[in-house]
Amino acid sequence: MAQLTGFSNSKVSLAQSAPLPKKLDEGLVERLSQRITRLGNRELKTVISPFSGEVLDHIPLCTADDVREAARKAKAAQKTWAAWSFKARGDVFRRFHDLVLERQHEVLDLIQLEAGKARRDAFYEVMDVAVNARYYAYNAAKHLKPRRRRGVIPFLTQTWEYRQPKGVVGIIAAWNFPFIFAVSDAIPALMAGNAVIFKPDPETSFTALWAADLLYEAGLPADLYQVITGEGPELGPPLIENVDFIAFTGSTNTGRIIARQAADRLIGNLLELGGKNAKIIFADAPLERAVASALRGCFNGAGQICMSSERLFVESKIFDRFVRLFSERTRQLKLSTSLNYEFVVGSLISKQHLETVKAHVQDAVAKGAKVLAGGRHRPDIGPFFYEPTILTDVDKTMEVFAEETFGPVVSVYRFDSVDEVLKRVNDSPYGLNASIWTKDLKFARELATRIQAGTVNINDAYPATWGSVDSPLGGFKNSGLGVRHGADGIRQYTEAQTIATQHYHGVAAPAGFSEKRFSQIMTFALKILKHIPGLR
Ligand code: NAD
Repeated sequence: MAQLTGFSNSKVSLAQSAPLPKKLDEGLVERLSQRITRLGNRELKTVISPFSGEVLDHIPLCTADDVREAARKAKAAQKTWAAWSFKARGDVFRRFHDLVLERQHEVLDLIQLEAGKARRDAFYEVMDVAVNARYYAYNAAKHLKPRRRRGVIPFLTQTWEYRQPKGVVGIIAAWNFPFIFAVSDAIPALMAGNAVIFKPDPETSFTALWAADLLYEAGLPADLYQVITGEGPELGPPLIENVDFIAFTGSTNTGRIIARQAADRLIGNLLELGGKNAKIIFADAPLERAVASALRGCFNGAGQICMSSERLFVESKIFDRFVRLFSERTRQLKLSTSLNYEFVVGSLISKQHLETVKAHVQDAVAKGAKVLAGGRHRPDIGPFFYEPTILTDVDKTMEVFAEETFGPVVSVYRFDSVDEVLKRVNDSPYGLNASIWTKDLKFARELATRIQAGTVNINDAYPATWGSVDSPLGGFKNSGLGVRHGADGIRQYTEAQTIATQHYHGVAAPAGFSEKRFSQIMTFALKILKHIPGLR
């Protein structure tokens, strides 16, 4: 909805060390309210702060008409934008990169308040957005510039591959990375010459609006990036109906719905979905580093990160030592609601999600699992806080065994052989991320190629692959379709177009040649071409 994003000079100025505000910055909300008025008083949805359980503010529930209007404006704006050079588009994102870093305290507060994250986790979002802005500002042209291709007849056919923007790209995303999902997929889409309409999760719309504001401040032309706020089942269908590509990040169930609707329209789609990620720790792993990384890999974002590890396989020889240290350190993790860097584990997003996490642990314990650390709801800190939790003796009968918990809960298993652990790691309908810990890097790289996951981190949890934005990132199996990052991450937002110019004579018998003679000459030519490097 263009109306929501057209405002400028937004100042979200929550003091970094201030006590937790119950409401969002009035300036931002006031501007938002004006837009709502202009929309004709849309129904409002109450947004709850996960830190306090109190009302944070309200967002308008956009309608299908709002989506159509946003698409109409986006389409018009895209035509001019597509004619901009890569250099001019890149200048917008170079300025955006600098603004994000300069004004990070504003968005850090906003992310914490909306998503209930620790500040450290919010800062990872700032880094990701800056890295993607920098990468595509400087590398989009390399990935998309017209390329000379080999012609059908050497020297006589001049063939070029062009990349044309799709038009309008729709993005629908989950709440767990409100800033990243608002911008990091939009950047390659915009750099490729498209307009973007973004539908955030209703829990985290304000960060998206702030991001829109900053994009316009960086010089993005009006209407090119629009935010529609509201519920997925209402806004998803009209959005897919009116865009030329849909990128989705969220649960596998919703991903299937999106894919079906995209198939009906024959539009491309990117699906970044759920996971049940495994970490393998071999006996020769550097123990201290492996434990420190397991703490981050399992409990960053209170476990609400698609690439978090929920299954930990530890070689029997070090199982007891590893588990003792991991449990001790887990119990020491500090939970809090303050807007500073003093704590490392934040809240779950909502009461509903808290219930899912509690149910997974209760089900496991009822069926015989042991709790080595955590396992308790912590309303004394905030209404949806849940302790980082380690389980052992988990088996197939328990929900937590194969289903994604998407919370701070990890099951630890022992293993004795490589073949055995590989089989257990791959025995999952998901294939998003994996991690291997060992000193034997050659062995680890070979093992990694046998793991069915889109990313495998050796001696790291997930930042090594996630932050390597020159390389693709996506899921195998039920974890998704398509990739973000790298060349593929921007080319997917384009149509491939081949333009070939034929000089002299084309692929047909010249005048005076019989078709039979022509076929004999061509057969001879094809045999020769196979032997000429550069032409085969
Ligand atoms: P979800 O699928 O319920 O919601 C995600 C988004 O889709 C929200 O904006 C929601 O409003 C919208 N939506 C819901 N129903 C819709 C419908 N019928 N049509 C159109 N849009 C609809 O996801 P969630 O459970 O809130 O998020 C957590 C999930 O996201 C986890 O499974 C997690 O692993 C996954 N995730 C994956 C990645 C990745 O990169 N692979 C990243 C983050 C989260």
